[in-house]
Amino acid sequence: MNEFELIDRLRPGLPGNDTTLVGAGDDCAVLDPGLPGRWLLFKTDAVVEGIHFEPSTDPARIGHKALARCLSDVAAMAGTPTHAVITLALPSPFDPARVEGIYAGLNALAARHRVAIVGGETTTNPERLLISVALLGTVPRGRCPLRSGARAGDVLLVTGTLGGAVRSGRHLDFEPRLEEARWLADQFEVHALIDLSDGLARDLRQILKASGVGAELWAEAIPISPAARTEPGARAAAGWPAPLVAALTDGEDFELLFTLPATRAGEVEAAWAARFDRLPLSRIGRIRAEPGLVVRDRDGVRPLTLDGYVHFQQP
Ligand SMILES: [Mg+2]
Repeated sequence: MNEFELIDRLRPGLPGNDTTLVGAGDDCAVLDPGLPGRWLLFKTDAVVEGIHFEPSTDPARIGHKALARCLSDVAAMAGTPTHAVITLALPSPFDPARVEGIYAGLNALAARHRVAIVGGETTTNPERLLISVALLGTVPRGRCPLRSGARAGDVLLVTGTLGGAVRSGRHLDFEPRLEEARWLADQFEVHALIDLSDGLARDLRQILKASGVGAELWAEAIPISPAARTEPGARAAAGWPAPLVAALTDGEDFELLFTLPATRAGEVEAAWAARFDRLPLSRIGRIRAEPGLVVRDRDGVRPLTLDGYVHFQQP
């Protein structure tokens, strides 16, 4: 059983209530507690030593990453983050300077996005450091793009470049695409939106599954990061070249993947280039009514059998 099968098993038993608009299964929960004009977003995420960072990682970068992952999920709802609480599980004995360093990273990123850190919890974990962040945010009522909104005929667009984030260290320093996502949802009819945490292939499949559609990716349009082009460890797989495999399957890119009507794509690209001239936006494929994920390249169209990152897998 892997983490996704475990989540699928647990989800049906989770209680909801009459203020729950979207429960488990999207990037954030969407709640309606009666705020004028806004819905509430709610999210939690954890990073663990040895998995998401190393014992030698600069503490400020650990703190940055712990909060940035949650902020990226709020970006995936086109929302604005507002308040966080932090749970730290510390090995014993712990180094106070390391904890202060982690908070320096948390505080700096929170301050840049006007997120208040309003409390937390410290506990012990004998083996390794764990940081869990719970985050609140808001989004204008009715203006929250979900994973389930993709429609046949939409185009697929992605920000930035993909692959090699762990090897290059970018997974510790990335900037969540909050401003970009809000701008997109404000100006355009974004049908579906997700942030890329587990690799393009896997995260796109989440949109396809939630929306009940399929997709065709265009191999030559996928923006491959410089790190993925040069990764010494990257290997070709299933007949695809190594850099493309990295861009399709490496985790922790934290870019935005979204769909919108094909008729608007040119307009979105022109407006994007004028507004965010340092961040590329790439049109990488289209949503189809037929289920499944296929890739088109010079040789034709083939099903994509590769998948992305899975946190755990056990027999
Ligand atoms: Mg996400």
